[in-house]
Amino acid sequence: MSAGKVIYLDNHSTTRCDPRVVQAMLPCLEQDYANPSSVTHAAGQRAGEIVGQCSDEIARLIGAERGSEIVFTSGATESNHLAIVGFCRRKKVGHLITVATEHPSVLAAMDVLLREGWTLTTLPVRPAGDSECGRIDLQMLRDAIRPGTALVSVMLANHEIGVIQPVREIAAICREQGVALHCDATQAVGKFPLSVRELDVDLMSFTAHKFYGPKGIGALFVRGSGRRARLEPVMSGGGQQQGRRGGTLNVPGIVGLAMALQLSAELMPEETGRIAGLRDQLFQSLASEIPGMVLNGAGLESGWRLPHNLNLQLPGVDGHSLMVHCPELALSSGSACTATSTEPSHVLQALGMNADEIRCSLRFGLGRFNSAEEIRLASRGLVRSYRRLRGLH
Ligand code: PLP
Repeated sequence: MSAGKVIYLDNHSTTRCDPRVVQAMLPCLEQDYANPSSVTHAAGQRAGEIVGQCSDEIARLIGAERGSEIVFTSGATESNHLAIVGFCRRKKVGHLITVATEHPSVLAAMDVLLREGWTLTTLPVRPAGDSECGRIDLQMLRDAIRPGTALVSVMLANHEIGVIQPVREIAAICREQGVALHCDATQAVGKFPLSVRELDVDLMSFTAHKFYGPKGIGALFVRGSGRRARLEPVMSGGGQQQGRRGGTLNVPGIVGLAMALQLSAELMPEETGRIAGLRDQLFQSLASEIPGMVLNGAGLESGWRLPHNLNLQLPGVDGHSLMVHCPELALSSGSACTATSTEPSHVLQALGMNADEIRCSLRFGLGRFNSAEEIRLASRGLVRSYRRLRGLH
């Protein structure tokens, strides 16, 4: 079944490429297809100009100072790897800090450094039931920093429970202590207004396919002035991107990323409220039919939950079975990268949830292309299957 035929509620995994983004990319596939490193001819120079304009625009939209602070990658996995491994390989082996609920790509980059002799503190998050469930305790971060701490890596918004970390406050602590801060903003960029200068981060990862852009193109913000962040390339080649990441630039992808970011910024004032409204509609209609349903993570009104995220425990029913019984819905129980694993979600485990609670949990990611009618149908289908599975006809 094509994604077009289902009610797509898996927008944390990826989003449909906006048709306006596709249109913007086409000329770079059909006409402006030259290699931007081919400065020996006009077509290559033109491609180089396109990349330069997109870099400047992306920098402007994320509050960076200039286009040269943007390094293009294949996606956020690579951006996270380059930020963490590339940054630390220029430093003396030391100590790192991250958080238990980070995306597997951050945790895996930390593992690479552990094998190179680094040490790591993994901060816990506040547990289920706490009013700041899923957020870190800032005092714990202060206490974890020690001489030799080179980098702190904390995500802006979580891919399963949508919790938004207090990155501005985290940055202030890092500044006080002279420690660099990397932020995986993959789930946040395009969802709410943000600026790398206001957040005061040194490195920030994001990827186009989470905000209605194409797959296979991501970016890393690398602070280029003041406290300049320096990177050792993890992929070397023809010296592209000032030697920070080798490989021919993906010009159509870069144009798609810039266009998707521009559109998100334009649509955000209307879109955020509309999607949050649909999310609340889904929550309320399920809560009224499923007694004992639990919202995992922070409250919907807390101010630190992504507006399009829900993560729900549907008591007595295995989340996987519910998905199988609702083939008309595209849903997932957690990170797409770990969806094939039988391991329970490490994010929900970090909230202190037990195996049964995790098994009964489903993640919902609403998006630009969902309608109120789809949400009504999704809710009806879920309630019907839930009741059937529980033998409550
Ligand atoms: N970081 C977070 C928070 C994510 O949600 C994801 C994707 O799910 C990634 C990183 C990896 O992104 P990509 O698929 O572009 O490599």
